[in-house]
Amino acid sequence: MSYQLVDLKVGFTCNNNCIHCVVSDKRNEKDLSLEAIKKIIEDYIDQYNQINLTLTGGEITYREDYRQIMQFIKEKKNRGSIDFVDIQTNGRMLSHDKILEETLSVVDFYLIALHSNNSEIHDYITSCQSSFLETTAALAKLTSMINVKSIAIQTVISKKNYKGLKDVYKFVREQYGILECNITFPHPLGVAYDMEIIPTYHEIKEDVNDALKYCLENDMNPYLEALPYCVFEEKLRIYALEYYKKRNQNVVGYGGEKDGHIDYKIVNEEGYAKYDTCKKCSYDNCCLGVWKEYKQLYPLKDMYSMLSNNL
Ligand code: SF4
Repeated sequence: MSYQLVDLKVGFTCNNNCIHCVVSDKRNEKDLSLEAIKKIIEDYIDQYNQINLTLTGGEITYREDYRQIMQFIKEKKNRGSIDFVDIQTNGRMLSHDKILEETLSVVDFYLIALHSNNSEIHDYITSCQSSFLETTAALAKLTSMINVKSIAIQTVISKKNYKGLKDVYKFVREQYGILECNITFPHPLGVAYDMEIIPTYHEIKEDVNDALKYCLENDMNPYLEALPYCVFEEKLRIYALEYYKKRNQNVVGYGGEKDGHIDYKIVNEEGYAKYDTCKKCSYDNCCLGVWKEYKQLYPLKDMYSMLSNNL
């Protein structure tokens, strides 16, 4: 049976303040109330009958009514209206036993943001001094309690961390046995629309290839986000081609006051741009290109030259 995947942003309040935050320009929006969250979930269930739910924000675990949200979702799971729940979190609050306990009985999959294995770099990126300690404490607890296959690490690339990308995956694999990771190129929105934060693809390609190579040679399962084919060496490009072909694009959701209901297939079609020379590229038909805002930030950083250098 296929369930509609629904992505729910519950609000934009967060206990981190990441330098690459894509929702920083929405921080003045009011978080959804508990009642509004219940209504949105119920409306999606009415529309699709049965759903899979992605919980994100902001930072959902930081809310005072987190326990009530978990209880509501648990009831819906018990009735069969929600099949699978995944959470996107910085993980800090999961280092607290009570919050972790409330989460464990509801959430099936965890995507936890860890931007470096170096505490100083991670804390610099999150702008919060204790964030590395708390996130890794949560990882230690989680991996001792649930199957590591239910945990993935998300690392958002920035100028501050791209040189240590491979080390993050090596760290989570060796320290916690985590085998899933998400290599994410940042969306230059809000505070992240800044050349001091967003590297060029040309700058990161060697480190991205090294990181992907490490993952594939060590039985890890890497997801890719906003990394076009020309970034990859030929062998690794085959992995990228297969990965993007299989990716589920059928996602809808609620994106906050400004964005309202979102169909992510349309967002993907409209959110990306290409350079003129992409027309010469043999991947032009199957490639989304780069974030539109990336092209605005780096209008002269042609992508095709990268591919021809890699051929
Ligand atoms: S179409 Fe453009 S962005 Fe996509 S792989 Fe080719 S050169 Fe790169």
